[in-house]
Amino acid sequence: MATARTKLAMTSAQKSRRRSSRASSAASILRDADQFLLPTYKRQPLLFTHGRGCYVFDSRGKKYLDFLGGIAVNALGHAHPRIVKTICRESARAIHFCNLFHHPYQGPLARKLAAWSGMDRVFFANSGTEAVEGAMKFARLCARTGSDAPGVPAHKHRILAFTNSFHGRTYGAVSVTSTEKYRLPFAPLVPGIDFVRFNDPDDLEAKFDDTVCAILLETIQGEGGIYPVSEHFWNTARSLTTKNGALLIADEIQCGLGRTGRYFAYQKFSSKPDIVLVAKPLAAGLPLGAVLTTQAVADHISPGLHGTTFGGGPLACATALEFLNIIEDDHLLANIRARGEELRDGLAALAGKFPFIREIRGEGLMIGVELSIDGAPFVQQALLRGLLINCTHDFTLRFLPPFIVTRAQVRQFLRQLETIFLTTPQKAAASQPAKPAATRAVLAATR
Ligand code: PLP
Repeated sequence: MATARTKLAMTSAQKSRRRSSRASSAASILRDADQFLLPTYKRQPLLFTHGRGCYVFDSRGKKYLDFLGGIAVNALGHAHPRIVKTICRESARAIHFCNLFHHPYQGPLARKLAAWSGMDRVFFANSGTEAVEGAMKFARLCARTGSDAPGVPAHKHRILAFTNSFHGRTYGAVSVTSTEKYRLPFAPLVPGIDFVRFNDPDDLEAKFDDTVCAILLETIQGEGGIYPVSEHFWNTARSLTTKNGALLIADEIQCGLGRTGRYFAYQKFSSKPDIVLVAKPLAAGLPLGAVLTTQAVADHISPGLHGTTFGGGPLACATALEFLNIIEDDHLLANIRARGEELRDGLAALAGKFPFIREIRGEGLMIGVELSIDGAPFVQQALLRGLLINCTHDFTLRFLPPFIVTRAQVRQFLRQLETIFLTTPQKAAASQPAKPAATRAVLAATR
């Protein structure tokens, strides 16, 4: 037990830390980061201090319109009053209980996710990549038969993934991610994974056989440059898996939970997957991911087969439940559709003025603008002019604004983007972006 003296000592230590942290300048914080962090990210030399709604502020007080949204995480922007209130209330009650007990939020959150998705059961993880890991394990588990010897790969064990895909950085997830620079340094990867050309049903049929336990795809490829799966391709994947007792897994970590103006991007199709993966915006910025499954998948799972310490804690689940309630209460799906349409119309008008715009892709508030020239200088210029965007695969500018973005903010964004296009010196592209097969046909259908 802390004595009065140690309590006093802790308090003065805390006070002195607070004083020194206030005194440390942005420059020294950046120096510490430079010296002590593993250099896994190419970061901008900027220190963000806080955000409010669709705006972020840096240590010099500069304001940025946030059309990146923490890469699809900050769907309610920053400091949303209901999220702040929930986090304050719940953190004073309980931050963590272990998964050996119930708490008030996991069950109701699972019920709501099931209702939104049409799935039956939920497993909570901490991130997108962990949700992918869980789904890959469940797919292999479901495909095992009574005659498969323990520890030996089942006859049905292959997972089909796709060119241009991104599913995360842990071993399973990186093994189903196609980008070589993310994969090759870490070989050998998880065995039994084959890549199919995205949106190419012939290649899918050619590579599918009775050894396949799952097809794993992003309903809209995000990091790959905002490429939606075609209806024909989805139907082919669904019918091959259904006929052969394999699973269709939809990674909706970036495109799900409202981003496209539907609860889930696959809801534009007439069939559902067997497993749906969500994360990014789920707990409004707190780490939380989830694997949503049918009852048929859940029937293979028993206690001890999978688990996590932190996944599904009370603070994250209460916040996620509030996030989903806000989407419903504030009719945000309608806002996403309306603002998305305004954005695409405005971008189409810009495409008429700037010939380097090759294509505008996406749905709702998940939009990619493919350029015929390098996109990085535009991202830098945007930053200078107080706009946050990013660029994937060198040529595609990606916009992922918060679901609460207003019409005025969309107009502000379009005005800023036009100025950025006008004022940024342009370099000719050294190479052109490689397109996933059959993409142009999909674009025509989704525009
Ligand atoms: N799947 C998709 C489609 C993603 O976009 C991402 C992250 O960008 C992931 C999985 C991995 O999620 P996380 O970074 O939370 O592990």
